[in-house]
Amino acid sequence: MDKKSIYLADLTHNGLILSSNVFPLSIGLVGAYLLEKKPELYEVDLFKYPEDLSNALEQNVPQVVGFANYSWNYDISRQYAKIIKKLWPGTIVVFGGPNYGLTEQEIEQFWQCNPNIDFHVVQEGEEAFLTLLERLREVEFDVGRLKSTRMKIGNVHYSVGEEIIKGDALPRLKLEDIPSPYLMGLMDKFFDENLGPMIHTTRGCPFSCAFCTEGSKYYNIVSQRESQLEKEMHYISQRVKGPRDLFISDANFGMFKQDYEKARIIAECQEKYDYPKYVHVSTGKNQKERVVDIVKKLNGAVSMAASLQSTDPDVLANVARSNISVDKLSEAGQIANTNDTGTYSELILGLPGDSIAAHKQSLRDTVEMDFDNIRMYQLIMLPQTVLNTPDNRLKYNMKTKHRIMPRSFGRYRVAGEEFVSVESEEILISNSTLPFEDYIVCREMDLTVEILHNGKVFAEIQGLCKAMNLSWFDFIMLFFEQRRNLSPDITKMYDDFRTGTSDRLWDSAEELAEVVGKDIENMLKDERGTNEMSTGKATAFFVLFQQINDALFSLMENWLAKLGKLDPITKDYLVELKQFSLMRKRKLLSMETSENESYSFDMTRAEQHSFKILPRELKTQSVQKYHLVYDTKQIKLLSAYSEEFGGSFDGLGKMLMRYPHIHRLFRKPVLAA
Ligand code: SF4
Repeated sequence: MDKKSIYLADLTHNGLILSSNVFPLSIGLVGAYLLEKKPELYEVDLFKYPEDLSNALEQNVPQVVGFANYSWNYDISRQYAKIIKKLWPGTIVVFGGPNYGLTEQEIEQFWQCNPNIDFHVVQEGEEAFLTLLERLREVEFDVGRLKSTRMKIGNVHYSVGEEIIKGDALPRLKLEDIPSPYLMGLMDKFFDENLGPMIHTTRGCPFSCAFCTEGSKYYNIVSQRESQLEKEMHYISQRVKGPRDLFISDANFGMFKQDYEKARIIAECQEKYDYPKYVHVSTGKNQKERVVDIVKKLNGAVSMAASLQSTDPDVLANVARSNISVDKLSEAGQIANTNDTGTYSELILGLPGDSIAAHKQSLRDTVEMDFDNIRMYQLIMLPQTVLNTPDNRLKYNMKTKHRIMPRSFGRYRVAGEEFVSVESEEILISNSTLPFEDYIVCREMDLTVEILHNGKVFAEIQGLCKAMNLSWFDFIMLFFEQRRNLSPDITKMYDDFRTGTSDRLWDSAEELAEVVGKDIENMLKDERGTNEMSTGKATAFFVLFQQINDALFSLMENWLAKLGKLDPITKDYLVELKQFSLMRKRKLLSMETSENESYSFDMTRAEQHSFKILPRELKTQSVQKYHLVYDTKQIKLLSAYSEEFGGSFDGLGKMLMRYPHIHRLFRKPVLAA
């Protein structure tokens, strides 16, 4: 019997630079499950890059194309669906994924807007896709015949005229029942220079956050993948070619007792293959002692997360997040910090009840809890989330706009047809407690924390504040208040950020797509990209570093003088520390070193103490000469990053945002002989 050809695509945009550099695991799992159950009936090919899908379609027209439907690839997948239906009407188009609203209104709208999609798989996809193919096989892949029966297929929706047929929810699968797409060889083609492998060791989340897809009841049961992980990790580690990163799509890594064994396996690979260097994963929200213990086993490769979203009790109650203990999170963050484990916290601006005061307090709490990085997000109105309902929109007077998803646009071609595609997302820009103007102020506050605090870029001043018992956050706020009085270039950076935050917003996705369609040539040439936070950070670090460094040290001197804490030694130290801070970081990617720098303070000791030491303890008897150099590990990392992100401004911004440990790349002081 001829096998039917099935294409599964989880596309990424690559018009400007690669938008997603992660293996397409979700379609791998769907394909692996299908091939395990029906190897004699189906052939499966997986796709990530648009040009690969185009080439394959030009050479072989499949029976079915399944597209993973996420907010970052919805439009490009729809555009492919349109061309497939035009050129090869017999090919069946199936979408599946979380970017599908579950209210009646959203469902109706989806089917009105998508005449080229035959079926949509909702929630868990493996069993649903298999069953759908089986039903189609019974009618010889005649979509019209199947639809005319109006049969319900578990986890599958489709439209027949005005009517929408919705299959009942299937019981959740056990993750152990899905074979590894890696071990089946399905993912081999993705081991290239660009993509980082992703694994999935736990599915589901016990929490119920109102803004999150996994907060729904359906995903509250958690299932674990245990038996295949060891083989899978060794398989991956032997083949990885691109970034030495591992992505784990678990929602709460380290929270479950099974995670001890998973960490042991990953650590074994680190030892044997020097991989993974960096693990991208959300760590658990509770059981923090266990999370810290597990994270510590991974040799600094994992940043410990404290995903607070807000520290305001009313805001937390409004989004059903009071179940996560803020005290325990902060305690754990501090333990992790003392173990050289990176830490980060997440905040979302604009949740119901948020305000300038509440957001500022959330920033203060997280900065003062000593998290290395604060990831500051806007509230995205995701489908399938409790917060995104007409009632809640009304209740909290939520005003939203559509923006271009960073790096997610491009011009593509298939079988002689050309199209422009852009992804957009709906974000909140004001609510009943946060007017638009306040929202913009909060965003500028976020940029300030991003450029001064994140990545420990100014650890010299941060450490000095700590040593002198002063609030680092108060100092950040001093800079924030003065941000438009420091230099014309710094003012312009904030003005550009404000423009990017407030101007590139549209009332609807259609309006946005029209504007992008007309301007695509310019957008593809503009290497600044469309993420204002990443552009601001790259500008601050790669273009205005010296100006910001000067401004900070000058503000610090004035502040200490005002507080009566500026003795002569501290004054001298500030002068030398300013120079030291500059020389460690200027032209970071150039590989230039700096020879014979003179200091009258012990800069090696200062650096070893993360600068949390008083100047008088560092004063030396005589001036000493230092070379500021990179060590071998830093050189390797820098060249890997340059290769991965290229030299474009957008690439540099992406690098700074993605790798929170930028301070690990700063030149180190070595005493000259
Ligand atoms: S935000 Fe995190 S903790 Fe909350 S439901 Fe989603 S995955 Fe779970």
